[in-house]
Amino acid sequence: MIRVERLSLEEVKSLDRADPLGHKRDEFCIPEGLIYLDGNSLGALPKAVKKRLASTVETEWGNSLIRAWNSHQWMELPAKAGDKIGQLIGAGKGTVIAADTTSLNVAKAVSAGLELNPGRRVILTDNGNFPTDVYMAQGVADTLGKGHQLKIVDPADVFDALDESIAVMMLTEVDYRTGRRHDMHKLTRRAHQVGTIAIWDLAHSAGAFEVDLEACNADLAVGCTYKYLNGGPGSPAFIYVAARHQTLIKPMLSGWIGHRAPFDFDLEYQPADGVRRMNVGTPPVLALSALDSALDVWEGVDMAQVRAKSVQLCELFISEVEARCSQYGLKLASPRDAAVRGSQVSFHCPQGYAVMRALIASQVIGDFRAPDVIRFGFTPLYLSYTDVYHAAEILEKVLENKLWQVPEFMKKGQVT
Ligand SMILES: *Cc1c(COP(=O)(O)O)cnc(C)c1O
Repeated sequence: MIRVERLSLEEVKSLDRADPLGHKRDEFCIPEGLIYLDGNSLGALPKAVKKRLASTVETEWGNSLIRAWNSHQWMELPAKAGDKIGQLIGAGKGTVIAADTTSLNVAKAVSAGLELNPGRRVILTDNGNFPTDVYMAQGVADTLGKGHQLKIVDPADVFDALDESIAVMMLTEVDYRTGRRHDMHKLTRRAHQVGTIAIWDLAHSAGAFEVDLEACNADLAVGCTYKYLNGGPGSPAFIYVAARHQTLIKPMLSGWIGHRAPFDFDLEYQPADGVRRMNVGTPPVLALSALDSALDVWEGVDMAQVRAKSVQLCELFISEVEARCSQYGLKLASPRDAAVRGSQVSFHCPQGYAVMRALIASQVIGDFRAPDVIRFGFTPLYLSYTDVYHAAEILEKVLENKLWQVPEFMKKGQVT
């Protein structure tokens, strides 16, 4: 176990001065005085997105109207944004599109995976998965009506549960509550040894650290773009299909935009080439324009540097919070070993919901996950070491002065 010794504020500031990613913060809109530790839930707004959206609305939609589908290549946006995402997750050109929501893409991927493995009936997942992934897989199984079953095991038991009965292994690499990270390479290799199709949800991976889908030979993957990829609230998700499977998949959701020639208006469905067949309906151009622009902040960014800084930010936060707040009952809920942790840190915290509300009122934004977890995301492109140090200091103040003991902070909002 490697632990960072506690640093002085001066030492923390010197980390910022030496930070090779420090200049990226200027590319984001971060309100003055706010420490934003929730980029794992809704990424910050890249400044370029404001301009891009304004021009998409005014010039493309406003002036070009329907002509913009051709003159501004609106139809190409899912593949264009998909290729940019591909570069961040080790996926080649033409293997990723940006479309629909993560939930829908889970359904598309699971149904495709089951089709690629027609002789088997079990979908394996773990109980740390995000509920919507499990709901969607169950929905696909029920809808197919072929007797498919969901097998849900503890995250630590996935490896041993892989055997010749499993059609599809569907896992989220990073646990949304604790940040615990699966070993994608090892599990995918094991899945393939027993003839199982491996589907990965990269919702908390893409843009958080290096992912190499092709090196680990994943079959299908999905993920979210409004978290670490900063695509904006509800931005289109992505889906990856390994090149070797693309021609074999007949999409369950066979919409016209996934058709080989939508404007032939042929009543017989024929899938488009490659991953494009995973498109369903008309691309949401405004949302895709925002995403396409947001993805440009990654140009020239070295993901190894992103990961190195992410680990350091998390270690700094853990050591400061443990030193300052353990006496108030906080306990680390995330793995202590950075190698098996994503880019977030969670603590079990008594009265966690009210504590988080009070912390937010004190200009440090994280979030709360039931039953008692306060969660903090670390986004190296727009966070400084000094931010993280101050966040721990402010959390200590909230607890020390019981700033959370306010009736208003006990009432839950619709979104936590
Ligand atoms: C955030 C997240 C989702 C969100 O799905 P939506 O369809 O965009 O609401 C799904 N799965 C995982 C693992 C997530 O972390």
